[in-house]
Amino acid sequence: MSGGDTFLGMPAFPVNAAAAVQDSQLRFNLRKATHTIRAKRATVVGELPDWLELRQAGKEIKDHTLRNLERYLLQLEEAVTAAGGHVHWAADAEEANRIVADLVKATGETSVVKVKSMATQEIGLNEALQAEGVTAYETDLAELIVQLGDDWPSHILVPAIHRNRSEIREIFQDKMADWGRAAPEGLTDEPRALAEAARLHLRERFLSTKVAISGANFMIAETGTLVVLESEGNGRMCLTLPETLISVVGIEKLLPSWRDLEVFLQLLPRSSTGERMNPYTSTWTGATEGQDFHLVLLDNGRTQVLADKVGRQALRCIRCSACLNVCPVYERAGGHSYGSVYPGPIGAILTPQLRGMSSELDASLPYASTLCGACYDVCPVAIDIPEVLVHLRAKAPHPRAERLGMRAAGWVFNSPGRLAGAQRLGGRFRRFVPKHLPGPLSAWTNTREIPDIPAESFRDWWNRTDGGAR
Ligand code: SF4
Repeated sequence: MSGGDTFLGMPAFPVNAAAAVQDSQLRFNLRKATHTIRAKRATVVGELPDWLELRQAGKEIKDHTLRNLERYLLQLEEAVTAAGGHVHWAADAEEANRIVADLVKATGETSVVKVKSMATQEIGLNEALQAEGVTAYETDLAELIVQLGDDWPSHILVPAIHRNRSEIREIFQDKMADWGRAAPEGLTDEPRALAEAARLHLRERFLSTKVAISGANFMIAETGTLVVLESEGNGRMCLTLPETLISVVGIEKLLPSWRDLEVFLQLLPRSSTGERMNPYTSTWTGATEGQDFHLVLLDNGRTQVLADKVGRQALRCIRCSACLNVCPVYERAGGHSYGSVYPGPIGAILTPQLRGMSSELDASLPYASTLCGACYDVCPVAIDIPEVLVHLRAKAPHPRAERLGMRAAGWVFNSPGRLAGAQRLGGRFRRFVPKHLPGPLSAWTNTREIPDIPAESFRDWWNRTDGGAR
């Protein structure tokens, strides 16, 4: 999302998805990647006989924390402050961006390194910093690919999942020099060569940048500790080397205690990368010797989500991406179709709640699902995504014709006499019912036919034959 582009203003999901499914390379990349990760996940989850108990514990810890969010947030603030850190509260994206930009400018620096963070993508931090003359450098390998390619992330865990090796080699060759150290001569598309090119490019950046920006996977209220899980070690370089560390974290990332963290350190790696344990788990509490620490606590619609009794379960999400990897819609439509930093099933329920459903795109997201329920089955914190999708569909704006149609159907179904009359009428004129509807209604029958109307209703048949006896 570099270069000032944003997701907003994109067409509705069906339009994006219809274009994306035409891209056979994209479909191949997605299928290969999601099937590999989900097979790994299934294996490591199957190893744990108490997986369902762990899942239930994760759900209950999150629900308890969300019910007592205010208390735990204040406890966190006190602990971070006592450990020498500074806590800032941001009601929305604009306020968060302003706080971070002011903090960076106060250091006199014009560049920052970033640990992979969805919260900062959600608020468009890179673009906001750019407007203030500060360049943000992504250091996660996949985020680097996205940034160099002037692209958008399309998966929570693997933001460049839509790119294959040869595309990445081209991006490195063409763009790396614009952002720092150029790619080596004769770069091949071997994974080792690509990783080495990224390592050399990023190493220079780590050693020369004095401000870092991160998110966090979890925050522990009892000690004021932040936790980042990652696979490359790039995050740890960002967290430890710079003189100023600014962490922007959604308020729902809270856990009451270290004991609670134990549950999530088992749930998250197995659900996301299909590993028993993730390679790097970094924890830090307040400021450390030689490093200033600022924590920006981000609301940006979260308290509004919390007020919705059905929708609030989306705040339990630990961003593992397991729901994306099993979703038949995501696998074909890809992450960009969702027009949000949160793609896939979780994006379909989180984005419309965070942003509202006033745009055509956001109002279409609750429909970006077959309601097959695979997402619910794999979710490590048991978010009933289909339940929230149906709930949001009811809240989404509906065309006037649909509302009138539903009201008429309700009137008919409300009375046995009216229903029987409508069925007889339908049976009598069934020859005139078309298979496909015209005009704007054709969207419904383009992919499905209107079923044949029987000549006689079940009730009439029952009465005529005495329940089949005659
Ligand atoms: S909704 Fe559940 S499965 Fe999907 S990313 Fe969040 S925690 Fe993972």
